Amino acid sequence: MEKFDLGIVGGGPAGYTAAFQARRLGKSVVLFEKNAIGGVCLNRGCIPTKTILHSAELFEEMQKAASLGIEADNLRLDFAKVIQHKDEVVEKLRRNLELALKNSGTVVVKEFAEILDEHKINSGGQIYECEKIISATGSAPSDLPSIKFDGKFILSSDDILELKTLPKKIVIIGSGAIGTEWARIFSSFGVEVVIVEWASSLLPSADFEVSKRLERIFKLKKIKFYTSTSAEKVEIVENSSVDVFLSNGEKINADFILLAAGRKTVNSEKIIGVSYIGDEAGEIQLAHYAIRQAIKETTGISYQKSLIPSVIYGCPEIAWVGLREQDLEDGSFQKSLYPISALGKSHCDNCIEGFVKILSREGKILGAHIVAKEASALIQQIVIAIQNEIPIGQLKEVCFAHPTYSEGVFESLLNL
Ligand SMILES: Cc1cc2nc3c(=O)[nH]c(=O)nc-3n(C[C@H](O)[C@H](O)[C@H](O)COP(=O)(O)OP(=O)(O)OC[C@H]3O[C@@H](n4cnc5c(N)ncnc54)[C@H](O)[C@@H]3O)c2cc1C
Repeated sequence: MEKFDLGIVGGGPAGYTAAFQARRLGKSVVLFEKNAIGGVCLNRGCIPTKTILHSAELFEEMQKAASLGIEADNLRLDFAKVIQHKDEVVEKLRRNLELALKNSGTVVVKEFAEILDEHKINSGGQIYECEKIISATGSAPSDLPSIKFDGKFILSSDDILELKTLPKKIVIIGSGAIGTEWARIFSSFGVEVVIVEWASSLLPSADFEVSKRLERIFKLKKIKFYTSTSAEKVEIVENSSVDVFLSNGEKINADFILLAAGRKTVNSEKIIGVSYIGDEAGEIQLAHYAIRQAIKETTGISYQKSLIPSVIYGCPEIAWVGLREQDLEDGSFQKSLYPISALGKSHCDNCIEGFVKILSREGKILGAHIVAKEASALIQQIVIAIQNEIPIGQLKEVCFAHPTYSEGVFESLLNL
């Protein structure tokens, strides 16, 4: 029986971060991964989607580049190459990660593993005895009782990464981060996109003004969407397309459906004494949350769960942290909303869409909601400010470089 200080089941962001941190502290570590190192994030989530998104946006931008003095004659899309490039990026990062794990001294077992009790893991008939065990087995796409994945007409976010050709028309069920990012990808590639969202607005977890702005952006991009509407059932038509029947009585025909209605945890049984982290914990299903949990579990460095930022990628990016306006009682807060179009940098970049919205009370930031190019980087400034309870008066003393989008944060703060 092999003995380790730490046994980790799952090689996604939660698992590999725990391995690196524990090794840094001199612990012996064994990590089990049944599939590909890097987990969903690297192989089927964050990285592949953002790589395809970059190609999609570049393609769209180049079609409009003539007004910036760039003539891109004969511009054409080679979708197979887009997918090949995505695979190369994933492959390269996976190899780097595997090498880094090896160099760290982590013992990686590329097998399915089963946790037997607080101290024992079985993998391939061999028992590994571990002082401590972390389970980080992640999550999987979730379908609906009346609409099940079939890998051909009803696709999951995993299936969609295997597409060989682009559809003409697609229905996306769900407008969370995954649905929104794929709507942006397909629309930029010229595919007709229809979103069906049961909540009363797109991106329902966002501040309501962010949702409204996204709806406006989608209308301008001719992305059609239904809110307060559910997809009731589907029918495959002559083995070549799919009809989607909506709760409002309408029927939409499309090449296929992307069902992006959430993710479910894979393991339901929990063993006392074992730590369950990352998506498997079933709390906030984000890679950076998984990483924070792994760091806390292995080093004790804490984090504030209420200050985990959310980011939706694409042009413009959307990012937020803290409380939303709809979470607050009328009259109990101050609000500042600064338009991105008022910033010189947005005109330099030909990207004037968006705003920086900050909510505050008694001189402290409660939440921030940003729609802008680089929103993913801007939100980090606010996270640091809120977490350290830096008064707005003190933030106003900070010098923000010009021309940048962070001037939008500064201007928004000045109005509070
Ligand atoms: C399309 C998409 C886009 C996303 N984009 C973002 C984004 O932009 N930003 C963000 O923060 N998050 C994003 N996410 C979410 C992010 O991918 C997850 O939150 C993150 O991967 C969770 O990490 P994890 O380590 O908990 O689990 P996972 O990454 O799911 O890894 C779990 C690993 O455990 C392995 N495993 C499971 N059971 C066993 C077993 N019994 N034995 C051995 N191995 C096992 C699995 O094979 C898997 O590799 C996205 C997700 C998707 C689907």
